[in-house]
Amino acid sequence: MDGFLLSYEGFDSEAEGLREALTSTGNGYLCTRGAAEWEDNDGVHYPGTYAHGGYNRETTILGGLPVLNEDLVNLPNWLVLVLRIEGEDAIRLTDVDVLGYRHEFDIRYATVVRRFRFRDQVGRETTLISRRFVSMADPHHAGIEWTLVPENWSGRAEVISAIDGRVSNHGVARYQQLEGRHLNPVSPRTFGPEVIALKAETRQSNLYISQAARTRVFRGDVPLPAERTLYQMEDYIQQVLAFDVRQQTATRVEKMVTFYTSRDPAVSDTLVKAATSAARHTDFAATFGRHVAAWEELWRVCDVRVSENERVQQLLRLHIAHVLQVCSRHTADLDAGLPARGLNGEAYRGHVFWDEIYALPFFNVRLPEVTRGLLMYRYRRIGEARAAAREAGLRGAMFPWQSGSDGSEETQRVHLNPLSGRWEPDLSRNQRHVNAAIFYNIWRYFQATHDQTFLRDYGAEMMLEIARFWASIAHFNPERQRYEIQGVMGPDEFHDKYPGAREGGLRNNAYTNVMVAWLCGIAGTLLDLLPVSRAEALRGRLGIGDNELAVWEDMSRRMFVPFQDDGIISQFEGYDDLRELDWDAYRAKYGNIQRLDRILRAEGDDPNCYKVTKQADTVMLFFLFPHGELREIFERLGYDHPADMAERNVTYYDQRTSHGSTLSFVTHAGVLAALDPDSSWDRFLVALRSDADDIQGGTTKEGIHVGVMSGTLDVVQRYYAGIGVREGVLYFDPRLPRQLGGLSFPMQFRQTPIMVTLSGDRLTLAIHPESVARPIRAGVRGDVRELCPGDQTVFELSAQSATTGPSADG
Ligand code: BGC
Repeated sequence: MDGFLLSYEGFDSEAEGLREALTSTGNGYLCTRGAAEWEDNDGVHYPGTYAHGGYNRETTILGGLPVLNEDLVNLPNWLVLVLRIEGEDAIRLTDVDVLGYRHEFDIRYATVVRRFRFRDQVGRETTLISRRFVSMADPHHAGIEWTLVPENWSGRAEVISAIDGRVSNHGVARYQQLEGRHLNPVSPRTFGPEVIALKAETRQSNLYISQAARTRVFRGDVPLPAERTLYQMEDYIQQVLAFDVRQQTATRVEKMVTFYTSRDPAVSDTLVKAATSAARHTDFAATFGRHVAAWEELWRVCDVRVSENERVQQLLRLHIAHVLQVCSRHTADLDAGLPARGLNGEAYRGHVFWDEIYALPFFNVRLPEVTRGLLMYRYRRIGEARAAAREAGLRGAMFPWQSGSDGSEETQRVHLNPLSGRWEPDLSRNQRHVNAAIFYNIWRYFQATHDQTFLRDYGAEMMLEIARFWASIAHFNPERQRYEIQGVMGPDEFHDKYPGAREGGLRNNAYTNVMVAWLCGIAGTLLDLLPVSRAEALRGRLGIGDNELAVWEDMSRRMFVPFQDDGIISQFEGYDDLRELDWDAYRAKYGNIQRLDRILRAEGDDPNCYKVTKQADTVMLFFLFPHGELREIFERLGYDHPADMAERNVTYYDQRTSHGSTLSFVTHAGVLAALDPDSSWDRFLVALRSDADDIQGGTTKEGIHVGVMSGTLDVVQRYYAGIGVREGVLYFDPRLPRQLGGLSFPMQFRQTPIMVTLSGDRLTLAIHPESVARPIRAGVRGDVRELCPGDQTVFELSAQSATTGPSADG
């Protein structure tokens, strides 16, 4: 058992949607659900393919009102391969005796495999093995291979190979009432005898998508003659390949597929490009070989190894593989954000939220170019963010809570409560804290990489415009002599307004205000980090005067933070006045109460009235900032930061949090690592299995939770290994859970590759002796060492004594 296999024995119609999401195959350019090639969308199966940036807007008339939504479009289904034996009906699971069925996901190479043995209605027994991948080496390529073995018969087989553009977005039950048609047909075409191709266009955003497929039949490596029949419609094209098969002899069918969209560079007509690319496509084995090599390279920089816990190892690797299938080096080149639910389903319509705050730490120290690409997605939308701020009567840049194609606000105004069946107002766009997250992400990226070019050309401008936005939404309260922010929400979505209030938003969300104090402190001195000419140019262009810098400086010292009488940070002003919920009674009545908001609203009640928190809100502060940094922020604000601040606040909010977003388990696992290691481990395990076991009962089939998957990897590196960067030094403050024998992973710090190994009481850092490596400074608490390429150093964690010298391989 190497932790690289996810497998399901037998077919289970109830679980198929979940398995499809978890066995999706992708490469950071596109991703396809792990649906069987021979099945249609029928309520059990949902073939879905999604590509970064493939958005389209449609209006639904809901109760007489137009509701506009932008969706990540389900693209034409390239999977279709259907088997017919001796001209009879197509083979589907429900029409045959299933003699064996296994659905596997090879985590190492992101390959979905089905092993299917069946007896058809006339008693013929056949084995069909399907393998499929989306190439990590050639981002526009994918391949399916079928191996057919007739066990007790010989005869004529037919395989239908199609590209089906008659698809729509209908993967999420809650959205059934909303318009799901996003594609218009353009044209089907054949190119030579082997290649079929289909072009479609999104109805509103006019994005062309073309796919082409070349299907061939082989015995061993020798092509087998097949009789081909074509059928095409404007939004569908198929080829039927008929060929003879022999008892106990394997026949292979290869369908090699290509994808292009009009967003791709170096393309004229996408249809021609897809078709010529398919005609030039190498065979399955050669294409798969390149794909394998690309994944090997990724694992060399992204693997996380643990000892003594096979399940944890498997799930960590599953998370790494999925995160990389959504965002890989290929993504860095695209204009792509991080869709909260990956490219694996249609929940949240493929929108980009703040979840990248959980994902970027993983990339910062492994594939920083991916972080840079995702931050560029924000930069390219700064114009829209500026316009949004202006339209709200504010200044600077106000990035949207939900972002899609062009960076305008995509948050719905109404959402469906599946428990009550009612459409309820959605005020979540008031989560302006996403702007603090973007600032935070840029800063952490810069600390990890020291990418001055990015800071100079893009990062600083976003940070300054974000600081300006916060300064304009904040008001100075002369009575308190402090700055306040009203009308916003924190990450806790259960509280969107005060009980009975007409207007949405709350006063002084502590998380937001502290983030603003912190970022204003950095923004005030940011210009000093830029080359003088650039700093002057930026100041001039943005019109940043001394007064404005002084206001930011002042805000970093005088943001208001609400506290309760008992010294606990108040999640927002007035939180203390809310009622306590009888948690035990609700647990007894409903079992799973993670989504207390839906439960309370379906009861005619309102979560706004209670001290109930959906997910870490105040607790986020302890997650994002190491202890010392948070203390400095509070001290600068002139507030006490007692030694037990984290412990008291985390305990208080833990008792009032339903973890209705699984992101919350990640956050609590992180902050508890130092406070209560066993409890941290318990939360970590919940987060780790939350998608694999679908702990929210039906959400994962609508798309994996990328923030949670990457968040578990962040907990390992930032909490269990204790990585942090301060003043150019890479610090480790390890807290290896006793449930693990050891932990090791590759990382890079400012381009220098490092192998980190933790076991027992020892932390070993081995600096790779390669040419890009430069000397770095790394340390544990006060013990900071300069390490050169080829060095290996050991920190004895309890004794803090050390030995430094060339590594064994150095
Ligand atoms: C969470 C948000 C998150 C969003 C997308 C919501 O349930 O409350 O914090 O950004 O899901 O993952």
